[in-house]
Amino acid sequence: MYNFKTDRIAEIIKKNGYRTVGLQMPEGLKDYATGIADEVLEKTGCQIIISSDPCYGACDLADVGLSIFGADALFHFGHAPVLEAADIPTYYIEVHIDTDPIPLLEKNLSMLEKRVGLVTTVQHIGSLEKAKRFLEKNGFDVHIGKARGRTKHDGQVLGCSFSAARTIAENVDNFVYIGSGDFHPLGVALSTGKRTYAFDILQNEVRDIEPLKDRIIKKRFAEIGRAKDARTFGIIVGKKKGQMRKGLAIRIKESLEKRGKKAYLIYLDEITPENLISFRKLDALVNTACPRVTIDDAKRYKQVLLTPVELEIAIGERGWEEYKMDEF
Ligand code: SF4
Repeated sequence: MYNFKTDRIAEIIKKNGYRTVGLQMPEGLKDYATGIADEVLEKTGCQIIISSDPCYGACDLADVGLSIFGADALFHFGHAPVLEAADIPTYYIEVHIDTDPIPLLEKNLSMLEKRVGLVTTVQHIGSLEKAKRFLEKNGFDVHIGKARGRTKHDGQVLGCSFSAARTIAENVDNFVYIGSGDFHPLGVALSTGKRTYAFDILQNEVRDIEPLKDRIIKKRFAEIGRAKDARTFGIIVGKKKGQMRKGLAIRIKESLEKRGKKAYLIYLDEITPENLISFRKLDALVNTACPRVTIDDAKRYKQVLLTPVELEIAIGERGWEEYKMDEF
């Protein structure tokens, strides 16, 4: 099903004379790690070390640890580049899933309004042009947003970056997300406010994301309400290179202090309820690292957990009607 491009990896290793290389992949691909290592070893004779820490995106490179081990280079699988610089040469091996979106589109055309925005993730990027041609042939006016910022392909979205959807939102009636799961289409719906359909080509079903979006917004508004009288705050600064927003965290701290609140900067790698248990006496936490921890996982935390935008609403710097998704 997947092509891990081990010939290309072997070519890079030989060309650069690398003797030790690191492999890093997200959870969904880790089962293949030892197989990839076997193939690369056979083709190059290179020493291989596999990073087994959790990896959620290209924001989270294992370059620093692997360079301490002595790796000459890192091969990061499953994501397109997000970061400009790494401690060792880093090669991104995109892993594409070759699936055909047409049967599912064909079965569900009647639910779509005329102007369609198409979005997907890097795994399914090959489906986008096929879907566009098919929809246009059926009389739809199809838009695909340009790659910019953290995304490399036109129409590509990340869990924290929806510019490919936002920049075309005014021109479309609805979004069609081609891929799997609700994580990305939920972000599209929250970021654009437009009706979004998840065309799940792995489950072979279509889901309207609107009810989920409404539930999440309700929960977020309740969380903001709980923070209105908070007096003590922890501001989470992510240690992962592609999640660290130091300047924003410091600005938030200063802004809270100007309002007579007590605020602490808290630096950590993995944001989990367990890692934050010692700060349970604080009234609220503001997460400047991965925004999806706040949006998708807030119920796991004892403290109120807010995005920077949500904090602005809680302290009256922004109106409720100006609620928006926190994005990088
Ligand atoms: S910051 Fe979060 S949503 Fe964005 S790429 Fe990293 S893990 Fe994914």
